[in-house]
Amino acid sequence: MVLTVLGTAAAEGWPAVFCACEVCQLARELGGKEIRRRASYQVGDTIHVDWGPDSYNSMIAFDMDYSSLEHLLITHSHWDHWVPRELSWRSRGYSQIPADSHLMVYGNSHVRERLDQELPFSLEDCALSFKQIEAFEELDLGVATAVPLPATHAPSEQPFVFLLQVGDSEVLIGHDSGWFVDDVWDYLATRQLTAALIDTTFGTRDERRGHMGGAAVVETMQKLEEIGAMSPDCRRIATHISHNCGSSHEQLVDFFAPHGIEVAYDGLEVEL
Ligand SMILES: [Zn+2]
Ligand SMILES: [Zn+2]
Ligand SMILES: [Zn+2]
Repeated sequence: MVLTVLGTAAAEGWPAVFCACEVCQLARELGGKEIRRRASYQVGDTIHVDWGPDSYNSMIAFDMDYSSLEHLLITHSHWDHWVPRELSWRSRGYSQIPADSHLMVYGNSHVRERLDQELPFSLEDCALSFKQIEAFEELDLGVATAVPLPATHAPSEQPFVFLLQVGDSEVLIGHDSGWFVDDVWDYLATRQLTAALIDTTFGTRDERRGHMGGAAVVETMQKLEEIGAMSPDCRRIATHISHNCGSSHEQLVDFFAPHGIEVAYDGLEVEL
């Protein structure tokens, strides 16, 4: 199975829609890895993480097929990760959905609230269900299990990062995390990650409150190794990066490479 990282930007995308900063202009010029969509991930044929404003665009860009999706994990209710209106096209008259197709949406109470407010049809009409998730409560996704871990990213709600297990592979999908709380470190110490995707909103700049960057990303990877949470060949991946960090993809690669950290780009694949 493959996990595809479909978007690697922070909220505004990269280039940001109205931004004239140097790295946004560079992205318009070079394209390729300098272009970053809003974060989401596809895991195999049935699992998707986050449903932001670029999920549709990612589907086209990376040849995805969402018609087989069964499980949709939402980290938190911020607009760059959750656009419930885009689920309304599952209803009759907009899409031909097989009679047995059903999509389970997982999220916190704020995710539920926005779903109720913004979906113009009933859950039933869209062949959807919603499950409210709790920290450390394991979710059975058929071909995988997921464990929501509490993040310190948004004080007005309880955001989650996800530990996803597929067979022997354990992947931490860790954008919008902030520095982990002790309970999360303790939990991760019991796991053997094969890939760790870590929030790098601030690029090379050091920050760890709500979002992370630079030294905090390096320290997070080191600490994961120290507490025995990483398998020997664990992939260390920096993602969810804001254009406001002012570094090009190449500059980010130069900064993180000495620490054995890869810099994610849209379309990056992680073998599970
Ligand atoms: Zn975000
Ligand atoms: Zn910019
Ligand atoms: Zn957020």
